[in-house]
Formats: sequence, structure tokens, C-alpha cells
Amino acid sequence: MGSLHFVPLHCEGCDQTSLQPVDPGIEAKCPACGAGGSILPGEIYTEADIPVFERVAALVKAARLSSRDVRHAIAALTKVPAAGTPPEVALLQVLDLLPGLHALLPTLCLDASQARRAIGMLLVTVSAQLHRIEAENAARAS
Ligand SMILES: [Zn+2]
Repeated sequence: MGSLHFVPLHCEGCDQTSLQPVDPGIEAKCPACGAGGSILPGEIYTEADIPVFERVAALVKAARLSSRDVRHAIAALTKVPAAGTPPEVALLQVLDLLPGLHALLPTLCLDASQARRAIGMLLVTVSAQLHRIEAENAARAS
């Protein structure tokens, strides 16, 4: 059980991002609405990551980022490995965009590896918001 791997799945139907077990035999479905979703490229997670991932996904969804906010957040979060910025600093830089992150910070900043993993989760879930923004733009244009 504990050896299962999980990948992030984004649902275009309800804008939910969740971790789903990797199972080649089964098509991944959104647990909230049952629609098919798209697997987001990025990291592989384990069952132990699910509680934190769900909270990160929920706070990112609640923030209703604009496309400018998303670009801003991605820039801040991707700077970490490149510039050797401590992960806690990158988390602080996206705090204004993601107010819900405040409550999670004490957990995420417990140690550097947890903070780094949180940045990966934020990158995946923030990037998924581009799907929602694109869909909204397409709806507005038609
Ligand atoms: Zn859904």
C-alpha cells in the first residue's frame, strides 16, 4: 500500500487538483465530479504527501489567481533551484498572492526538504490555474 505512487490530476470540470494513484489500467477521474482530468507533469508523490497536497491545492484554487499572478508566482517559485534561494524565502514571496498559505507556513517550513516539496506542489497547482484561465478567456471570446 505505502509504495503506491501518486501524480497530480487537474479537472477542467470543477478546477480541482488532486493526487491520484498511478494505475496504467485505470483512466484517472476527478474524485470531486467524476469528469476526466489531465495529469500534470512534474513530480511523483506518495500517500504521505496527500494531506499537504490537498491543502496546497485548495488554497491555490481559493486564491483565484489572474494570469499575471500565475506568471508572478511561477517566476518566484522556479527561482529557488536556479539562484540557490532558500525555499522558505520563495514561499514568503508568493504569500501576498496566496493568502491561504499563511496557515500552512509553520508546517511547510519545518525543514528545508518539506519546504522544497511544498514549492513543487505550489508550482504544479499554480500552473494548473492556467487551464482555468484559458478556459475562461475562451468562454469570454466566444
Ligand atoms: Zn472535477
